[in-house]
Amino acid sequence: MGLLLKVFIPLVGAALAFYFYSAPESFNEEMLRGKRVIVTGASSGIGEQMAYHLARMEAHLLLTARTEAKLQKIVERCLELGAASARYISGSMDSPSLPEEVVREAENTWGGLDMLILNHIGYSTFNYFDGDVGQVRKLMDINFLSYVALATAALPMLKESEGSIVVVSSMAGKNSVPLAAAYSATKFALEGFFSSLRQEFIMDKVNVSITLCILGYINTESAVRTISHVIRDTPAPKEECALEIIKGGALRWREVHYPPRLVKSLLLIRSIAPEFLEYIVRSSYHMENLQR
Ligand code: NAP
Repeated sequence: MGLLLKVFIPLVGAALAFYFYSAPESFNEEMLRGKRVIVTGASSGIGEQMAYHLARMEAHLLLTARTEAKLQKIVERCLELGAASARYISGSMDSPSLPEEVVREAENTWGGLDMLILNHIGYSTFNYFDGDVGQVRKLMDINFLSYVALATAALPMLKESEGSIVVVSSMAGKNSVPLAAAYSATKFALEGFFSSLRQEFIMDKVNVSITLCILGYINTESAVRTISHVIRDTPAPKEECALEIIKGGALRWREVHYPPRLVKSLLLIRSIAPEFLEYIVRSSYHMENLQR
Protein backbone atom coordinates (compact mmCIF):
# COMPACT_ATOMS: atom_id res chain seq x y z
CA MET A 1 0.00 0.00 0.00
CA GLY A 2 2.79 2.41 0.99
CA LEU A 3 4.65 1.71 -2.23
CA LEU A 4 1.45 2.09 -4.27
CA LEU A 5 0.85 5.52 -2.75
CA LYS A 6 4.47 6.53 -3.27
CA VAL A 7 4.25 5.62 -6.97
CA PHE A 8 0.57 6.37 -7.72
CA ILE A 9 0.30 9.87 -6.24
CA PRO A 10 3.38 11.30 -8.01
CA LEU A 11 2.25 9.62 -11.24
CA VAL A 12 -1.23 11.19 -11.06
CA GLY A 13 0.38 14.52 -10.08
CA ALA A 14 2.72 14.36 -13.07
CA ALA A 15 -0.14 13.43 -15.43
CA LEU A 16 -2.26 16.37 -14.19
CA ALA A 17 0.68 18.79 -14.42
CA PHE A 18 1.25 17.65 -18.01
CA TYR A 19 -2.47 17.97 -18.86
CA PHE A 20 -2.75 21.54 -17.57
CA TYR A 21 0.70 22.64 -18.75
CA SER A 22 0.69 25.12 -21.62
CA ALA A 23 3.64 24.91 -23.97
CA PRO A 24 5.71 28.13 -24.12
CA GLU A 25 4.21 30.49 -26.64
CA SER A 26 6.03 30.50 -29.93
CA PHE A 27 3.41 32.77 -31.49
CA ASN A 28 4.42 36.09 -32.85
CA GLU A 29 2.22 38.56 -34.64
CA GLU A 30 4.44 38.59 -37.72
CA MET A 31 3.04 35.14 -38.52
CA LEU A 32 -0.14 36.81 -39.76
CA ARG A 33 1.45 39.74 -41.62
CA GLY A 34 0.26 39.76 -45.23
CA LYS A 35 -1.80 36.58 -44.74
CA ARG A 36 -5.17 36.38 -46.52
CA VAL A 37 -7.89 35.62 -43.97
CA ILE A 38 -11.68 35.16 -44.16
CA VAL A 39 -13.56 35.75 -40.88
CA THR A 40 -17.26 34.83 -40.77
CA GLY A 41 -19.64 36.32 -38.20
CA ALA A 42 -17.38 39.36 -38.05
CA SER A 43 -20.01 42.05 -37.39
CA SER A 44 -20.04 41.59 -33.60
CA GLY A 45 -18.68 39.65 -30.64
CA ILE A 46 -15.65 37.41 -30.99
CA GLY A 47 -15.58 37.68 -34.80
CA GLU A 48 -15.36 41.49 -34.64
CA GLN A 49 -12.51 41.24 -32.11
CA MET A 50 -10.67 38.74 -34.31
CA ALA A 51 -10.94 41.20 -37.20
CA TYR A 52 -9.32 43.96 -35.08
CA HIS A 53 -6.47 41.70 -33.91
CA LEU A 54 -5.80 40.52 -37.46
CA ALA A 55 -5.88 44.12 -38.69
CA ARG A 56 -3.21 45.10 -36.12
CA MET A 57 -1.18 42.13 -37.36
CA GLU A 58 -1.42 43.57 -40.91
CA ALA A 59 -3.37 40.71 -42.47
CA HIS A 60 -5.62 40.98 -45.56
CA LEU A 61 -9.23 40.61 -44.41
CA LEU A 62 -12.50 39.49 -45.94
CA LEU A 63 -15.32 39.77 -43.39
CA THR A 64 -18.88 38.41 -43.60
CA ALA A 65 -22.16 38.63 -41.67
CA ARG A 66 -25.66 39.87 -42.50
CA THR A 67 -25.57 43.47 -41.26
CA GLU A 68 -23.89 45.60 -43.91
CA ALA A 69 -23.82 48.82 -41.86
CA LYS A 70 -21.84 47.14 -39.07
CA LEU A 71 -19.45 45.46 -41.49
CA GLN A 72 -18.77 48.80 -43.21
CA LYS A 73 -17.74 50.39 -39.91
CA ILE A 74 -15.63 47.41 -38.87
CA VAL A 75 -13.80 47.40 -42.22
CA GLU A 76 -13.04 51.13 -41.79
CA ARG A 77 -11.70 50.50 -38.28
CA CYS A 78 -9.60 47.56 -39.54
CA LEU A 79 -7.98 49.82 -42.16
CA GLU A 80 -7.21 52.41 -39.46
CA LEU A 81 -5.65 49.69 -37.30
CA GLY A 82 -3.26 48.65 -40.07
CA ALA A 83 -4.93 45.86 -42.09
CA ALA A 84 -3.07 45.19 -45.36
CA SER A 85 -6.53 45.35 -46.96
CA ALA A 86 -10.10 44.88 -45.71
CA ARG A 87 -13.40 44.24 -47.46
CA TYR A 88 -16.71 42.57 -46.69
CA ILE A 89 -19.57 40.58 -48.17
CA SER A 90 -22.96 40.74 -46.45
CA GLY A 91 -25.54 37.98 -46.55
CA SER A 92 -27.13 35.19 -44.58
CA MET A 93 -25.39 31.84 -44.32
CA ASP A 94 -28.69 30.02 -44.73
CA SER A 95 -28.44 31.00 -48.41
CA PRO A 96 -26.88 27.99 -50.18
CA SER A 97 -24.99 30.23 -52.63
CA LEU A 98 -23.28 32.56 -50.09
CA PRO A 99 -20.41 30.26 -49.02
CA GLU A 100 -19.18 29.92 -52.62
CA GLU A 101 -19.65 33.65 -53.27
CA VAL A 102 -17.48 34.50 -50.28
CA VAL A 103 -14.71 32.13 -51.31
CA ARG A 104 -14.90 33.34 -54.94
CA GLU A 105 -14.45 36.92 -53.71
CA ALA A 106 -11.25 35.85 -51.93
CA GLU A 107 -10.00 34.11 -55.05
CA ASN A 108 -10.79 37.05 -57.34
CA THR A 109 -9.27 39.60 -54.96
CA TRP A 110 -6.22 37.79 -53.62
CA GLY A 111 -5.74 34.78 -55.90
CA GLY A 112 -5.45 32.57 -52.82
CA LEU A 113 -6.28 32.12 -49.15
CA ASP A 114 -4.23 31.32 -46.04
CA MET A 115 -6.78 31.05 -43.23
CA LEU A 116 -10.52 30.43 -43.06
CA ILE A 117 -12.05 31.31 -39.68
CA LEU A 118 -15.56 29.86 -39.33
CA ASN A 119 -17.27 31.66 -36.47
CA HIS A 120 -20.85 32.78 -37.31
CA ILE A 121 -23.96 31.39 -35.61
CA GLY A 122 -27.64 31.90 -36.25
CA TYR A 123 -30.01 33.15 -33.59
CA SER A 124 -31.16 30.55 -31.07
CA THR A 125 -33.20 30.80 -27.89
CA PHE A 126 -32.06 29.52 -24.49
CA ASN A 127 -35.04 27.48 -23.33
CA TYR A 128 -36.64 24.01 -23.28
CA PHE A 129 -36.83 22.40 -26.74
CA ASP A 130 -40.27 23.40 -28.06
CA GLY A 131 -40.56 20.75 -30.77
CA ASP A 132 -39.80 23.15 -33.64
CA VAL A 133 -37.93 20.85 -36.02
CA GLY A 134 -37.84 23.55 -38.70
CA GLN A 135 -35.80 25.77 -36.38
CA VAL A 136 -33.32 22.93 -35.74
CA ARG A 137 -32.97 22.43 -39.50
CA LYS A 138 -32.39 26.16 -40.04
CA LEU A 139 -29.75 26.27 -37.33
CA MET A 140 -28.05 23.20 -38.83
CA ASP A 141 -27.93 25.05 -42.18
CA ILE A 142 -26.34 28.15 -40.65
CA ASN A 143 -24.12 26.75 -37.89
CA PHE A 144 -23.02 23.52 -39.57
CA LEU A 145 -23.76 23.05 -43.29
CA SER A 146 -22.51 26.50 -44.29
CA TYR A 147 -19.22 25.72 -42.46
CA VAL A 148 -18.91 22.54 -44.53
CA ALA A 149 -19.72 24.45 -47.73
CA LEU A 150 -17.22 27.24 -46.96
CA ALA A 151 -14.45 24.78 -46.12
CA THR A 152 -15.18 22.72 -49.25
CA ALA A 153 -15.11 25.76 -51.55
CA ALA A 154 -11.92 27.09 -49.91
CA LEU A 155 -10.02 23.80 -49.84
CA PRO A 156 -8.25 24.07 -53.23
CA MET A 157 -6.78 27.47 -52.22
CA LEU A 158 -5.92 26.25 -48.72
CA LYS A 159 -4.14 23.19 -50.15
CA GLU A 160 -2.14 25.48 -52.39
CA SER A 161 -1.07 27.75 -49.50
CA GLU A 162 -0.82 24.90 -46.94
CA GLY A 163 -3.20 27.03 -44.92
CA SER A 164 -5.55 26.63 -41.97
CA ILE A 165 -9.20 26.11 -41.15
CA VAL A 166 -10.28 27.42 -37.75
CA VAL A 167 -13.66 26.24 -36.46
CA VAL A 168 -15.16 28.11 -33.53
CA SER A 169 -17.10 25.69 -31.33
CA SER A 170 -18.12 25.47 -27.70
CA MET A 171 -18.21 23.31 -24.57
CA ALA A 172 -21.78 22.72 -25.82
CA GLY A 173 -20.19 20.74 -28.67
CA LYS A 174 -18.38 18.43 -26.24
CA ASN A 175 -20.91 18.04 -23.47
CA SER A 176 -24.71 18.12 -23.43
CA VAL A 177 -26.17 21.49 -22.48
CA PRO A 178 -29.81 21.80 -21.38
CA LEU A 179 -31.90 24.64 -22.89
CA ALA A 180 -29.68 24.72 -25.97
CA ALA A 181 -30.42 21.39 -27.67
CA ALA A 182 -30.36 22.63 -31.27
CA TYR A 183 -27.28 24.83 -30.78
CA SER A 184 -25.49 21.99 -29.00
CA ALA A 185 -26.35 19.59 -31.85
CA THR A 186 -24.82 21.93 -34.44
CA LYS A 187 -21.60 22.18 -32.41
CA PHE A 188 -21.35 18.38 -31.94
CA ALA A 189 -21.81 18.05 -35.71
CA LEU A 190 -18.87 20.41 -36.31
CA GLU A 191 -16.61 18.26 -34.15
CA GLY A 192 -17.69 15.07 -35.95
CA PHE A 193 -17.19 16.48 -39.43
CA PHE A 194 -14.01 18.47 -38.97
CA SER A 195 -12.26 15.84 -36.80
CA SER A 196 -12.94 13.21 -39.48
CA LEU A 197 -11.68 15.62 -42.14
CA ARG A 198 -8.49 16.18 -40.12
CA GLN A 199 -7.89 12.41 -40.04
CA GLU A 200 -8.42 12.21 -43.81
CA PHE A 201 -5.97 15.09 -44.38
CA ILE A 202 -3.31 13.23 -42.39
CA MET A 203 -3.93 9.98 -44.28
CA ASP A 204 -4.00 11.80 -47.62
CA LYS A 205 -0.95 14.00 -46.79
CA VAL A 206 -2.95 17.22 -47.18
CA ASN A 207 -1.09 19.93 -45.29
CA VAL A 208 -4.10 22.01 -44.19
CA SER A 209 -4.50 22.35 -40.42
CA ILE A 210 -7.87 22.17 -38.68
CA THR A 211 -8.18 23.89 -35.30
CA LEU A 212 -11.34 23.33 -33.27
CA CYS A 213 -11.94 26.04 -30.64
CA ILE A 214 -13.72 24.89 -27.50
CA LEU A 215 -15.00 28.00 -25.76
CA GLY A 216 -16.67 28.52 -22.40
CA TYR A 217 -18.88 31.50 -21.58
CA ILE A 218 -17.53 34.68 -23.25
CA ASN A 219 -18.73 38.24 -22.58
CA THR A 220 -20.20 39.01 -26.00
CA GLU A 221 -23.36 41.10 -26.00
CA SER A 222 -25.47 38.35 -27.53
CA ALA A 223 -24.28 35.59 -25.16
CA VAL A 224 -24.79 37.76 -22.07
CA ARG A 225 -28.23 38.85 -23.31
CA THR A 226 -29.27 35.26 -24.01
CA ILE A 227 -28.06 33.34 -20.95
CA SER A 228 -27.05 35.64 -18.08
CA HIS A 229 -30.44 35.35 -16.31
CA VAL A 230 -29.92 31.58 -15.96
CA ILE A 231 -26.14 31.22 -15.84
CA ARG A 232 -24.58 33.61 -13.37
CA ASP A 233 -20.90 32.76 -13.99
CA THR A 234 -18.59 35.62 -14.91
CA PRO A 235 -17.95 35.47 -18.65
CA ALA A 236 -14.37 35.58 -19.98
CA PRO A 237 -13.21 38.55 -22.11
CA LYS A 238 -13.95 38.39 -25.83
CA GLU A 239 -10.78 40.32 -26.78
CA GLU A 240 -8.45 37.73 -25.19
CA CYS A 241 -10.62 34.89 -26.49
CA ALA A 242 -10.30 36.25 -30.05
CA LEU A 243 -6.51 36.44 -29.74
CA GLU A 244 -6.27 32.87 -28.43
CA ILE A 245 -8.28 31.60 -31.41
CA ILE A 246 -5.94 33.38 -33.86
CA LYS A 247 -2.86 32.05 -32.04
CA GLY A 248 -4.21 28.50 -32.08
CA GLY A 249 -4.92 28.74 -35.79
CA ALA A 250 -1.51 30.24 -36.62
CA LEU A 251 0.28 27.59 -34.55
CA ARG A 252 -1.86 24.87 -36.18
CA TRP A 253 -3.09 23.51 -32.86
CA ARG A 254 -5.59 20.66 -32.89
CA GLU A 255 -7.78 22.41 -30.31
CA VAL A 256 -7.93 25.77 -28.55
CA HIS A 257 -9.43 25.71 -25.04
CA TYR A 258 -10.61 29.08 -23.70
CA PRO A 259 -10.71 29.99 -20.85
CA PRO A 260 -8.00 27.32 -20.69
CA ARG A 261 -8.10 26.10 -17.08
CA LEU A 262 -11.87 25.96 -16.88
CA VAL A 263 -12.37 24.20 -20.21
CA LYS A 264 -9.53 21.72 -19.57
CA SER A 265 -10.97 20.92 -16.11
CA LEU A 266 -14.46 20.34 -17.52
CA LEU A 267 -13.11 18.11 -20.29
CA LEU A 268 -11.14 16.10 -17.73
CA ILE A 269 -14.22 15.61 -15.53
CA ARG A 270 -16.23 14.64 -18.61
CA SER A 271 -13.76 11.90 -19.55
CA ILE A 272 -13.74 10.46 -16.01
CA ALA A 273 -17.31 11.03 -14.80
CA PRO A 274 -19.67 12.35 -17.53
CA GLU A 275 -22.79 12.11 -15.36
CA PHE A 276 -21.10 14.14 -12.64
CA LEU A 277 -20.30 16.87 -15.18
CA GLU A 278 -23.93 16.87 -16.34
CA TYR A 279 -24.97 17.25 -12.68
CA ILE A 280 -22.56 20.20 -12.25
CA VAL A 281 -24.02 21.87 -15.35
CA ARG A 282 -27.64 21.40 -14.18
CA SER A 283 -26.80 22.65 -10.70
CA SER A 284 -25.30 25.86 -12.05
CA TYR A 285 -28.60 26.89 -13.71
CA HIS A 286 -30.90 29.41 -12.00
CA MET A 287 -34.09 27.92 -13.40
CA GLU A 288 -36.28 30.20 -11.27
CA ASN A 289 -35.34 33.02 -13.68
CA LEU A 290 -36.44 31.15 -16.80
CA GLN A 291 -39.69 32.09 -18.51
CA ARG A 292 -41.05 29.22 -20.59
P1 NAP B 1 -22.33 36.95 -31.82
O1 NAP B 1 -21.75 38.16 -31.18
O2 NAP B 1 -23.80 36.74 -31.73
O3 NAP B 1 -21.91 36.99 -33.35
C1 NAP B 1 -22.50 36.14 -34.27
C2 NAP B 1 -22.10 36.60 -35.66
O4 NAP B 1 -22.77 35.77 -36.62
C3 NAP B 1 -22.48 38.04 -35.93
O5 NAP B 1 -21.50 38.66 -36.73
C4 NAP B 1 -23.77 37.90 -36.71
O6 NAP B 1 -23.92 39.04 -37.52
C5 NAP B 1 -23.47 36.63 -37.53
N1 NAP B 1 -24.69 35.97 -37.97
C6 NAP B 1 -25.86 35.78 -37.29
N2 NAP B 1 -26.75 35.14 -38.05
C7 NAP B 1 -26.16 34.94 -39.25
C8 NAP B 1 -26.57 34.38 -40.48
N3 NAP B 1 -27.81 33.87 -40.62
N4 NAP B 1 -25.70 34.34 -41.52
C9 NAP B 1 -24.44 34.86 -41.39
N5 NAP B 1 -23.99 35.42 -40.25
C10 NAP B 1 -24.84 35.47 -39.21
O7 NAP B 1 -21.65 35.59 -31.32
P2 NAP B 1 -20.37 35.35 -30.39
O8 NAP B 1 -20.83 35.26 -28.99
O9 NAP B 1 -19.28 36.29 -30.78
O10 NAP B 1 -19.98 33.87 -30.86
C11 NAP B 1 -19.01 33.65 -31.86
C12 NAP B 1 -18.68 32.16 -31.90
O11 NAP B 1 -18.23 31.74 -30.60
C13 NAP B 1 -19.88 31.26 -32.23
O12 NAP B 1 -19.47 30.22 -33.07
C14 NAP B 1 -20.31 30.73 -30.88
O13 NAP B 1 -20.95 29.49 -30.97
C15 NAP B 1 -18.95 30.60 -30.18
N6 NAP B 1 -19.10 30.59 -28.73
C16 NAP B 1 -19.47 31.72 -28.07
C17 NAP B 1 -19.63 31.67 -26.68
C18 NAP B 1 -20.03 32.89 -25.90
O14 NAP B 1 -20.27 32.73 -24.68
N7 NAP B 1 -20.08 34.07 -26.50
C19 NAP B 1 -19.44 30.47 -25.99
C20 NAP B 1 -19.07 29.33 -26.71
C21 NAP B 1 -18.89 29.41 -28.08
P3 NAP B 1 -25.29 39.51 -38.24
O15 NAP B 1 -26.36 39.50 -37.20
O16 NAP B 1 -24.91 40.86 -38.73
O17 NAP B 1 -25.51 38.54 -39.34
